Amino acid sequence: MPDSSSPSVIVIGSGAVRALPTRGGPSYLVQIGERRLLFDCGRIAVHNLHRFGFPAETIDEVYITHLHFDHISDLPLLLLLSWNNGRDARIPIFGPRGIDHFLENGVRQAYQDDIDSRIAHGNRERDKLDWETTEITRDGLIYQNKDYTIETLATAHAGLRNFSYRITTGDKVIVITSDSEPDPRLVHFCRDADLLLVECSGTKAFYDSVAFGGWHLTPEDVGQIARDAKVKRVVLKHFVIESFSDDPKIAESMAETVRAIHPDGEIHAGEDGMRFDL
Ligand SMILES: [Zn+2]
Ligand SMILES: [Zn+2]
Repeated sequence: MPDSSSPSVIVIGSGAVRALPTRGGPSYLVQIGERRLLFDCGRIAVHNLHRFGFPAETIDEVYITHLHFDHISDLPLLLLLSWNNGRDARIPIFGPRGIDHFLENGVRQAYQDDIDSRIAHGNRERDKLDWETTEITRDGLIYQNKDYTIETLATAHAGLRNFSYRITTGDKVIVITSDSEPDPRLVHFCRDADLLLVECSGTKAFYDSVAFGGWHLTPEDVGQIARDAKVKRVVLKHFVIESFSDDPKIAESMAETVRAIHPDGEIHAGEDGMRFDL
């Protein structure tokens, strides 16, 4: 196993809202030693976790960026399936205010008959289904142990509370952004990152054509952030534009724009299953 100073990052779902067959919804795994941290849990995240060798019951911690459905739609399945598969500890779940309400209604209430039925006909214990929620209310350090720290930054996005995450382990830094409007504080938050997983939903021209265009980062925004923050590797994600474009290479062409602004960085258009060992 890698030690805590050599984490791995696996893109579980590189897509966004719409159900493109080639991309799962937002979800990314960070493995630090034997700990598996899942960031967001969108459409087919659980399916892809199993495909890529990380069964639901092996996820140790969950971090949610915000409560748009594309980022949380598979979270009930993750909890129920891992419980059914014999997970033996409660999963800590970090997210914005409202995540506990979502889980109470979207899991415990919505699946009450199923839960009662399984408990009546098997040996599953009710408390093992439970989760330990931490609702994040401010920026900064939200969690630390001897192997890693997690810091957050809230930015504007569609009027929703949301958090980007900065994970530091040994001398490595990983940043995973939420969906986000441009914000100059992202440069400091991403400073010297070894890997930045960053939303790049579309181009300026695309944003000008849709009602939600003001909610997201352009490739130019991403390039400037990565250049000014001296990020080593950049992985683009959350390609909303693909559902509206006829250009099958649109994600790669946005990566090319980022490369032109930050030629010192290694720039990738994310794909499901991509793995980076740091
Ligand atoms: Zn999204
Ligand atoms: Zn969003």
